Amino acid sequence: MDIVKIVEQKMGQNSYLIIKDEDAILIDAGVVVSQVEENLKVFSPKPKLRAVLLTHCHFDHIRELDNLIKKYECPAYIFKSGKPMLYNENHNLSCLEAPFKIKAKKDIKTFKDSEELVFGNIQVLCYNTPGHSVDSSVFVIGDNMFTGDTVFKIEVGRTDLYSGQEDVQLISLKRIRDDLSRDIKHFYPGHGPNFNKEDMKYNIDRILGENEWI
Ligand SMILES: [Zn+2]
Repeated sequence: MDIVKIVEQKMGQNSYLIIKDEDAILIDAGVVVSQVEENLKVFSPKPKLRAVLLTHCHFDHIRELDNLIKKYECPAYIFKSGKPMLYNENHNLSCLEAPFKIKAKKDIKTFKDSEELVFGNIQVLCYNTPGHSVDSSVFVIGDNMFTGDTVFKIEVGRTDLYSGQEDVQLISLKRIRDDLSRDIKHFYPGHGPNFNKEDMKYNIDRILGENEWI
């Protein structure tokens, strides 16, 4: 399996192409079609993009979603509470920059907490980890976890934006540290560098340190 990190320059948003044999999926949609196409072409035979998975509904993670769905004729997946927020510029936070709403409707599918999605040879476990936003989710593929804006290498996602909730985030972080990361070796965030399990533990221990009652 190959993991290709593609960084969007403006907001430093990381999207990830996951490629296994002839199947591919994209995690987050901050990158333009030409960047995805360039990276798919490196592989022979060229893998088919089967789905776009969204870690959450924020504008920097979804800005190319309509173009990607059109080009690859594939569905997108988001945690169920995130879907309506895609269609509201105040909820997807594009109001902070250049307001837009997602246009695709039937191609946007939803997943539930702990649901497994299968795309050809790629199996993805989806977990809702609310806090940064109510729909924030992490994806587990093998020993890799894609953390969106829930947890970064040295920080965690801010909770002061629409649908953010700090006390809920602490519970999500504890769940990641104590439960979901048991078999995980590599972490891939929505912004900034990748990190390992020690980094994750150090970071979450520090955040939870003042909240030992959880
Ligand atoms: Zn975000």
